Amino acid sequence: MTDTFRALQLTKTDDKPQSKPKADLVELTDQDLMDGDVTVAVDYSTVNYKDGLALTGAAPVVRTWPLIPGIDFCGAVTASDNADYKPGDKVVLNGWGVGESHHGGYAARARVKGDWLVKLPSAISPARAMAIGTAGYTAMLCVLGLERHGVTPDAGDIIVTGAAGGVGSVAIALLSKLGYRVIASTGRASEADYLKGLGAAEIIDRGELSEPGRPLGKERWAGAVDAVGSHTLANVIAQTKYGGTVTACGLAQGMDLPASVAPFILRGITLVGIDSVMAPKAVRQEAWDRLAKDLDLTKLDAMTETVPLADVPKIAERIIAGKVRGRIVVDVNA
Ligand code: NDP
Repeated sequence: MTDTFRALQLTKTDDKPQSKPKADLVELTDQDLMDGDVTVAVDYSTVNYKDGLALTGAAPVVRTWPLIPGIDFCGAVTASDNADYKPGDKVVLNGWGVGESHHGGYAARARVKGDWLVKLPSAISPARAMAIGTAGYTAMLCVLGLERHGVTPDAGDIIVTGAAGGVGSVAIALLSKLGYRVIASTGRASEADYLKGLGAAEIIDRGELSEPGRPLGKERWAGAVDAVGSHTLANVIAQTKYGGTVTACGLAQGMDLPASVAPFILRGITLVGIDSVMAPKAVRQEAWDRLAKDLDLTKLDAMTETVPLADVPKIAERIIAGKVRGRIVVDVNA
């Protein structure tokens, strides 16, 4: 291994909480990495919505400066003081504050706590692991949430909001392969063919759900994967069938939830919160094992674009503007 490695580094240029940081490609050494018992040669990272927030400064995601952002990475262990890992092991990392308060995946090298890592299932290549990334792993957590609450394919339709985004695209591919009938809610009518290709049976305009609605509506779906929050989530809950389950993982429309208790006390709806960042290791392993089994890799490839490290700031602007379709893989060595 060479002494230096390339990284994308963010520096704060003022003391405002929400200003855009400076992003530079720099050469660093192992001394610049933070504490950890496992060092990884990173092959690929990705751009998630939270990475977009970090790079654009749209939300105060970064907690320490300067920082290498990137909440995900995949690569091979090069050195380990952790009994669970040895050089050569392929590993994947999602969350745990990496790319927020600990140096992250936009670098050719990373050093982290071994307890944060998951062994990459052999059916998934490093590039595909990052095509999945936090967005896809979160989509799987949502599907597991629906399953745990007894939502089977014969219970009725599943609505996926933010459908053409990362979480939405992977959720559609997973749910359709598992036999669910999927309704995709999108603001991009031009992506109808893309969403049908992933397995959506029906497309609705997100405008149907994004305005203030009634406490209870017509019962339309048995379950939901919501990446949008705000009025959209309130309307999704209000139109869920008796006994159904809604998984909430995102806030692309907003962090608020202007809903009433009516769907909970009159229809027995369950609202399941999904967090990927601090999810325990066993849950992560289950999600990655299920992704290896239940995600159609042809569909994954169809939703993925690969970019070099230098393109990350540009992609970050696009994801915050809602203009990224599906998933982005970052080749950190390109
Ligand atoms: P993307 O940007 O890829 O997708 C978000 C999608 O939401 C967009 O593509 C768009 O879909 C839709 N959207 C954007 N803005 C609005 C709006 N104003 N009103 C309604 N819909 C909107 O992001 P990800 O898929 O990576 O992440 C989705 C959300 O999930 C984010 O809020 C992210 O922070 C959250 N998340 C949470 C995790 C957790 O641990 N809980 C983990 C991962 C992500 P379309 O064009 O189809 O309408």
